[in-house]
Amino acid sequence: MSQQGYVAAPPYSQSQPGIGGFSAGFGPPNSSLHYGHYGDPNSSYSAPQPGVSKSTVPFGSSAPAGPPPPGTHQFSQTNFQNGPSTPGQQPHRFQGPPPPSSTGPSYPPYSHQSQPAYPNTASTSPTAQLANQLNSMQINSYGPGTTPSSRMSSGHPASFQGPQLPLPTQQQIALPPGSQVPPPANNVNGLCAQPSLPPVARQDGIPGPVPPDPNLQQLSGQPPGPGYHPQPANYGPQMAGSQLSYPGAFPGGLAQLPGPQQKKLDPDSIPSPIQVIENDKASRGGQIYATNTRGQVPPLVTTDCVIQDQGHASPRYIRCTTYCFPSSSDMAKQARIPLAAVIQPFAIVPPNETPLYVVNHGETGPIRCNRCKAYMCPFMQFIEGGRRYQCGFCSCINDVPPFFFQHLDHIGRRVDHYERPELSLGSYEYVATLDYCRNNKPPKPPAYIFMIDVSYRNINSGLVKLICDELKTLLDKLPREEQEESSAIRVGFVTYNKVLHFFNVKSSLAQPQMMVVSDVGEVFVPLLDGFLVNFQESRSVVINLLDQIPEMFADTNESETIFAPVIQAGMEALKAAECAGKLFIFHSSLPTAEAPGKLRNRDDKKLLNTDKEKVFSTPTRDCVANGCCVNLFLFPNQYVDVASMGLVTMYTGGTLYKYNNFQLDADSPQFLSDLRKDVEKKTGFDAIMRVRTSTGFRATDFFGAIYMNNTTDVEMAAVDCDKAVTVEFKHDDKLNEDSGALIQCAVLYTSISGQRRLRIHNIGLNCSSQLADVYKTCETDALTNFFAKSAFKAILSQPLKMVREILVNQTAHMLACYRKNCASPSAVSQLILPDAMKVLPVYVNCLLKSCVLVGRPEIPTDERAYHRQLVMSMGVADTQLFFYPRLLPIHSLDLKGDTVPGALRCSEERLSEGGAFLLANGLSMFLWLGVSTPPELIQGLFNVPSFAHISTEATSLPDLDNPFSKKLKSILEHIQSRKPYTMKLIIVKQREQPEMLFRQFLVEDKSIYGGASYVDFLCCVHKEICQLLS
Ligand SMILES: [Zn+2]
Repeated sequence: MSQQGYVAAPPYSQSQPGIGGFSAGFGPPNSSLHYGHYGDPNSSYSAPQPGVSKSTVPFGSSAPAGPPPPGTHQFSQTNFQNGPSTPGQQPHRFQGPPPPSSTGPSYPPYSHQSQPAYPNTASTSPTAQLANQLNSMQINSYGPGTTPSSRMSSGHPASFQGPQLPLPTQQQIALPPGSQVPPPANNVNGLCAQPSLPPVARQDGIPGPVPPDPNLQQLSGQPPGPGYHPQPANYGPQMAGSQLSYPGAFPGGLAQLPGPQQKKLDPDSIPSPIQVIENDKASRGGQIYATNTRGQVPPLVTTDCVIQDQGHASPRYIRCTTYCFPSSSDMAKQARIPLAAVIQPFAIVPPNETPLYVVNHGETGPIRCNRCKAYMCPFMQFIEGGRRYQCGFCSCINDVPPFFFQHLDHIGRRVDHYERPELSLGSYEYVATLDYCRNNKPPKPPAYIFMIDVSYRNINSGLVKLICDELKTLLDKLPREEQEESSAIRVGFVTYNKVLHFFNVKSSLAQPQMMVVSDVGEVFVPLLDGFLVNFQESRSVVINLLDQIPEMFADTNESETIFAPVIQAGMEALKAAECAGKLFIFHSSLPTAEAPGKLRNRDDKKLLNTDKEKVFSTPTRDCVANGCCVNLFLFPNQYVDVASMGLVTMYTGGTLYKYNNFQLDADSPQFLSDLRKDVEKKTGFDAIMRVRTSTGFRATDFFGAIYMNNTTDVEMAAVDCDKAVTVEFKHDDKLNEDSGALIQCAVLYTSISGQRRLRIHNIGLNCSSQLADVYKTCETDALTNFFAKSAFKAILSQPLKMVREILVNQTAHMLACYRKNCASPSAVSQLILPDAMKVLPVYVNCLLKSCVLVGRPEIPTDERAYHRQLVMSMGVADTQLFFYPRLLPIHSLDLKGDTVPGALRCSEERLSEGGAFLLANGLSMFLWLGVSTPPELIQGLFNVPSFAHISTEATSLPDLDNPFSKKLKSILEHIQSRKPYTMKLIIVKQREQPEMLFRQFLVEDKSIYGGASYVDFLCCVHKEICQLLS
């Protein structure tokens, strides 16, 4: 098979004015600069302060020692111990009904089609190439010298070759790749001087109508909507900020050429993330994906399929950056591909997939390797007639406990293989014994404490009443085990401003009782009995309380609040009740009242990411140690120091929600939906996670809403279905290609009913001494997740500029290594991308443009901190959508079918005056309406006669009884359904002010804050690659 992946021809081969400046900033490749080498691994996101300890449980272990004895490999490429070769013929009694086509390996091994390079036949003179790039034809038309076959299409060799044009006369400087290019005038060392603010109002940036886009039609399968008139393209300056740069920006040569005559490179000729998504959907969507093969690359996270566990954890639980690890550390250093797994241990599985089986060995507890403490799993090899087993992780030979003994069949497999989840499945649970519990006592069911800021503003805005009213019905929906009638979770209530009010809601009381704690310096819990109650038993007292709270504080004029003592109070209450739990804190303002954790208005960029944020390290430590998860609902109308306040939330596995300038009418639906989802979420409490690996490599770094007190135990006061931990691995020896790289993730936790359990996820990856094998099995979405989290962690301890440089440098390095070692020989001027990574540059560019990494002074520090914290706990599906939003044309809906229209690339060029487009990134959602949107569509969606009548105030669409409205509503629901945050719908009319906000999400374009366009960034990366290769 050809190793050739994606091939680019001349347009990318040239130095560009501006890009040279960029490269100067990056300098020569520095092999010591890459993620995973971000300084001290314990410096930033590990424990704010050591010293916390959880109860000792037999969870940890010594590191595995010694290489495996020869000749004992469990796996080989052709003989899988692990997957049934004929599952249909085997009793499989714990497995749900087999899906229709489960009589064999249901999914062929994933392989990439070979992608022969398209040789560059056009002129390669540097000047001509630069000229071509700068002066390429109008979109959708081809200049002489280019054949239409070079356009990207599904399943075809991907090649992007710019149209060839006569030389422009104005271009005189064109340097070969790798040479020094004079930086633009305003650059210093490749980085632009601090620019002034871009004008917010846009006078001239409205693009003209866009010609019909064949890509759009092809993807959506729909003709353009009515009122859609093809017109010549007229691309003026894209946005007001398009001429600006900022520190660390990529001053693209293209965008720096002023004037309306500027032309752009055909964006259809560079790798399209949408095309990659659609191709995977077409080839793998709707199928059954069986996890019976080690090192198998799963369908993309954007592809719907049914996953069948046949020995390796479902990709819903674990996704890896590559499914084939390099066999040596030298090879790993050469490629610099991060070796990481994104683990979402409590991910939701759809109803048509089997939930996890629970294994109960009674008092004996789970079976574990004596040496490395790994849990019994499909990677254990039974020997000596079944009396002993060899650990797949450390190779230790263990005796099989008598109760667990079973004979082996003719191929050496236990005859009960398919009857035991722990022998044949990638994921399952164990009931834990008392040894795994705090103080060797069975845990109590968790508790939820609702803590409401009742200061003047919250009372006055109606927020307090809204929360209280909602809780009356919401408390009936507390999560419970399937088999149980009601929830075991107890509830408690606290209100606060400058002081704390605890409420006794014991069922025997006629009226709730309030106890005030005014000594906030030394918070104590004034009552034990009657504070945490079963809602069903205390229903009337609790409802009574919720009715009274808004009235109780109706006349308050207290505007100051406390915060740290609130957390302290909640934590102490859980501690006193000897249970884990969640705090739901509803807070509005900067806690300025005199109390521990008092914050000042320090919206000062210089202070961000410094030790000032350690204010909450003590409460954080205490919360984690006591299994107290902090969920924070913030309603700020000014700076509230999210970086500090959100820390406790982050380290305790909680979720941070933020509603800026909360307006009761407009924002209640979003907030209440978030609250409901969070209260109803299935969650594991008081959790500790351990990742074990087979010999030769180990987990070295962890990213997520977690707390690390040592280098191996990942502590989470709680972990819910949406939280993912990204784990980076490093070699410490050579890996064995036969036995592969095995990973076992074990999460010890307390269930919602108070049962102590272990959730085990196992996955096996391949190893190879061929770099091409590593590149072939990479997953861009998982790589993006890793890069996002490692960069967002790094900014706490390193200058932003350096973090950005490392990202670009590592991207270029990975691609250059592929080019050098895996691709067929070709001209240096060609950009050649591995197929599995061909859209990595666009994602890395999106990441660099995120408000966290863009480093613009006009981005509020609270916003940066908020986004940073959200991303740190995201799984792969969430980061994919967050960094590359979904853009859907909704003017051409298939009103009869239940299909969602095909997505479009996030660029202004995909919009049209006559169209309506929906954009969502998991946090924000926009409905953009072109000025010529057909009146019938407007009528159908808004019940108003024309564009001018549409109100952009609304945050939802009216419920109308017509096909347009119903269809769009169902699409909105579909997009929202799997996302942890509720997206508020923002209606944007073309050429009106809020359009600026919307345009920030068109991530392939140059951004308002100066972030490079995809095209420009690709040029930069190519230049870096050329320098690395030269
Ligand atoms: Zn072992």
